[in-house]
Amino acid sequence: MSPIRTRRRPEPVEIDCESLVVGSGAGGSVAALELARAGRAVTVLEEGPRVTTEDLAAAGPAESMRRLYRNGGATAVLGTPVIAYGEAHAVGGTTVVNGGLLWEPSPTVLDRWAAWSGYRHYRAPVVGTRFAEVRRRLGMTVQDHGDGNQDSRLLADAADTLGWRWQHPQRVVNGCRHRNQCATGCPTGAKQSTALTYLPQAEASGARILPGLRADRIVHDRGTVRAVEAVDTDGRRVRYRPRTLFLAAGPIGTPALLRRSGIHRHTAGRQLALHLNLRTIARFPGVVDATRGTMFTAQVQEHSALGMLIMPSNLTPGGLGAALAGRDPRQVDAFLAARASLGMFTTQVAMQGKARIAAMLGGTPLLRHGMTPADHHTLRLAFRRTATLLFAAGAVELLPPAGTAEPLRSDADVERFCARVRPGDWELVSVHGMGSCPIALPERGGVCDEFGRPYGFHNLYLCDASVLPGAPGISPQGTIMSFAHEIVGRHLEHA
Ligand SMILES: Cc1cc2nc3c(=O)[nH]c(=O)nc-3n(C[C@H](O)[C@H](O)[C@H](O)COP(=O)(O)OP(=O)(O)OC[C@H]3O[C@@H](n4cnc5c(N)ncnc54)[C@H](O)[C@@H]3O)c2cc1C
Repeated sequence: MSPIRTRRRPEPVEIDCESLVVGSGAGGSVAALELARAGRAVTVLEEGPRVTTEDLAAAGPAESMRRLYRNGGATAVLGTPVIAYGEAHAVGGTTVVNGGLLWEPSPTVLDRWAAWSGYRHYRAPVVGTRFAEVRRRLGMTVQDHGDGNQDSRLLADAADTLGWRWQHPQRVVNGCRHRNQCATGCPTGAKQSTALTYLPQAEASGARILPGLRADRIVHDRGTVRAVEAVDTDGRRVRYRPRTLFLAAGPIGTPALLRRSGIHRHTAGRQLALHLNLRTIARFPGVVDATRGTMFTAQVQEHSALGMLIMPSNLTPGGLGAALAGRDPRQVDAFLAARASLGMFTTQVAMQGKARIAAMLGGTPLLRHGMTPADHHTLRLAFRRTATLLFAAGAVELLPPAGTAEPLRSDADVERFCARVRPGDWELVSVHGMGSCPIALPERGGVCDEFGRPYGFHNLYLCDASVLPGAPGISPQGTIMSFAHEIVGRHLEHA
């Protein structure tokens, strides 16, 4: 009998490096730039592709969704209801597809986090100084109405009528041409994603950015990272041996990598904070032409203390199709026919129940959430406030974010809907995940110490959305990048 022959996997290539960064999004870009500017030899591993502005201009929205988003843009967070979670994988991470909104976290939120986490360092003066640097590097501007954006004008006028507070958004754009394609990658290069700002600057200072390389596992012993095993798109294995490792694989990728590597397996990814988006379609009596304009130019902040923000969202034919999918075909026909008179609006709320990585299936995280009765109550309240605003804006019909609901034409319809809607009826999307490995005392569920190091490790740092102690209630990129600057800056001071 001939012996069974097993094909041995080739030994991985071994590479020594000084500073290794995993992930090149909001947090990883900061690490790459700060370390390179300090003279460190930096290598950045990025699972996703590198795309240029020309690539983005040439691709259709559907192709960009498939190419740039993890799981095509709809990672399922299981529970009642299932929440569709969106994040990107590309050089520049989710900043390539995001709206470019940049807000500073409020002192109140930072104080609350300090009280909860047991660490008082990340508060207003420290974080504010770091935010000023992010704002300067990304070139933040105030986005006024400009061309188009009739949906935002209607919302702002309605807020004025009701005496509600609203603001033009702060964005990192340079000469936005209102092409309304922020979420599939800016085709003109106006949006200042980190792929166009921090990362080229890091490369100019010597950083090496390697797209198409996925960190699979961290090899460690006695609190020291020895190596990171990575795989390229052809399945070739490379083993990096860094002196210091900075993990910035995003709020799900970072805890998933820690758990695959047996690091804080029981706490990493146990609590993921989410902002939830409710999407309401409104029909107006006149033409709105909401596809004309940028993402939005007015955000209603009257209820921000309750964690609620109301704003238009990009209306695109694809987005409208997705929002109408699964509805009664007569409703779909009627709303498609009225396309020029429609606006689509997002109401963001901070979820009080937490999501978590419930299990790792063959190295892939399975996500679940535990939305609470209080969240259901908040969603109803948020929808009521949104309806009040949209009726004040002149809307004649609202399609609420629940697949089975009929169009609503009056306050009484809204009340009936709110009385009937069940938690499982909501159609919810989230594009902001945070706090899956928070900087907090271990007895409070913390994974990292106040330097961003997972407890017990001395050459491993986390510097992305996962370290935030909770949900900031605002678009989080500015907070994430400010924390990352502080974590890497402190590392460089103490090294
Ligand atoms: C449609 C949309 C709109 C948004 N709009 C805004 C906005 O206007 N303003 C705002 O503040 N926020 C916005 N956000 C959210 C914001 O962009 C994210 O919160 C932020 O980018 C998260 O930063 P991060 O560094 O934690 O992760 P990311 O920016 O997601 O970067 C993580 C990177 O790590 C890579 N990675 C993951 N695992 C591995 C691995 N194992 N090996 C190698 N690489 C890996 C990923 O491919 C990814 O590129 C939006 C998000 C979306 C989806």
